[in-house]
Amino acid sequence: MRVSVNRELCIGHGECAWIAPDVFGLSDDDGAVVLLRPHPSADLHEAVLDAQHSCPGGAIEVATGSTEE
Ligand code: SF4
Repeated sequence: MRVSVNRELCIGHGECAWIAPDVFGLSDDDGAVVLLRPHPSADLHEAVLDAQHSCPGGAIEVATGSTEE
């Protein structure tokens, strides 16, 4: 799994950071998402997908595939 975020689409609030705090944080400067782990371990994948689906800005992208990490 590879995670990326588009900070320009992020509207803050931090749903992602609540759901997957090991992967997403919030910037103290502008309140937008900060990606902590672009390649989260397998035990975090479900939370990452939950965060993606809960993101009101559509700012989280997740790539999975045969080369999944
Ligand atoms: S859930 Fe989406 S819009 Fe909300 S802080 Fe995270 S990336 Fe930004």
